[in-house]
Amino acid sequence: MGSIPLLPILYLLAFLRLLCFVNGANSSDPSLTPIPRHLYHSCDSLLKEVKALVHRHPEKLTAETLREDDKGYAAEIVVVTYNSAKIPKNGNLKFRVLLSFGQHGRELITSEVSLRLLSILTGERTMPGVGLNLLNSFLDNLVIKMVPMENWNGRKLVEAGEFCERRNGRGVDLNRNWSVDWGKKEKDYDPYEENPGTGPFSEPETQIMRKLSQSFEPHVWVNVHSGMEALFMPYDHKNVTPDGLISHLMRSLLEDLNHHHCQDKCLVGSGGGSVGYLAHGTSTDYMHDIVKVPMAFTFEIYGDSAASSKDCVKMFNPVDEASFNKVIGNWCAAFLMLFQTGPGWLDIARQANFTDLGKWVSIDASVVDGRGGSGRGGKLEGLDLGMQELRTYFRLFMLSSVLIMFMFCSRISKSKCRPSMSSIPL
Ligand SMILES: [Zn+2]
Repeated sequence: MGSIPLLPILYLLAFLRLLCFVNGANSSDPSLTPIPRHLYHSCDSLLKEVKALVHRHPEKLTAETLREDDKGYAAEIVVVTYNSAKIPKNGNLKFRVLLSFGQHGRELITSEVSLRLLSILTGERTMPGVGLNLLNSFLDNLVIKMVPMENWNGRKLVEAGEFCERRNGRGVDLNRNWSVDWGKKEKDYDPYEENPGTGPFSEPETQIMRKLSQSFEPHVWVNVHSGMEALFMPYDHKNVTPDGLISHLMRSLLEDLNHHHCQDKCLVGSGGGSVGYLAHGTSTDYMHDIVKVPMAFTFEIYGDSAASSKDCVKMFNPVDEASFNKVIGNWCAAFLMLFQTGPGWLDIARQANFTDLGKWVSIDASVVDGRGGSGRGGKLEGLDLGMQELRTYFRLFMLSSVLIMFMFCSRISKSKCRPSMSSIPL
């Protein structure tokens, strides 16, 4: 009996492995949907377009690149700040909104929404029914910090063919690497999907996002994902929502968004209570519990539940042009509605929570520019006492009105009792 020639077989296997590495293990399977390159930017071209937009609109946009590294693994995150620098109509108060897209590599569509949203904010693209004057009327009240692509390293792997990769460049899930309930593993824990890292904030990307959130102290946080259609509020790590009025306001805001921009198809509620599994160490739970962001959300903007679980491009991203444009249009409109109505919801909460005024005072320039510092309260100190007293009485009045309305609302239909606010038509 002749022996089997092992060496040529080993060479062949090595060659095939190399092919898989170059072209990506998934992309070599012809049954899987490739990335529709005619619809989606590469990560480099998307960030190039973002920077070009910033360059064309210095009066509204600024950008900075934040870097961290750990044991030779480095990460960079581009942060774009929208701030029209105009004084808002209600005095000096500006609401801070922090949005992150692309935390999971395979969720390509989220970063496309971010790019389109930036182009709408600058006026280069328009939304049907939303004129520039209307847009500016509520954008002047906001400072928005946007992270178009939180997980650049993971996204690179996806573009190289690892279509199902959601983790960062060294295999850690950036939405399990935060400190709230970090590291707890459910019975169905899958390390490929949910590896939380060696400890809370072990990953440079998470370190950057933590610093950003702590220096900016947003009033609204949205972590934008895909894989399903849902509008989540805390908590992800347990099957409950937070207590109190703010929790009711968050839910009402999400129900409005669901009605106007998700055709009432989105799941609404706590992540842990709605998604079918508990998630530990997530960004949104950290933003709520530790950074004390009054309104912290996770939006899931698209999912194809009929797609094979291996066909990740199709499962997490629209792959035909009509769906692609519909998803982007719907969610850009949803964000504009959030920008328009968010301050109104927060104002109600502010009136009810008037003793904790420091949380709500306006930003100063150092915070806007990302230079950090605790500039809050400076403007409040400048107010004379008489003015403060008047404000306190006004808040007491507003608080009692809100509480009466709240009690009234719990007795009759919720939808009829929400504060009236206009939606942005598509
Ligand atoms: Zn995700």
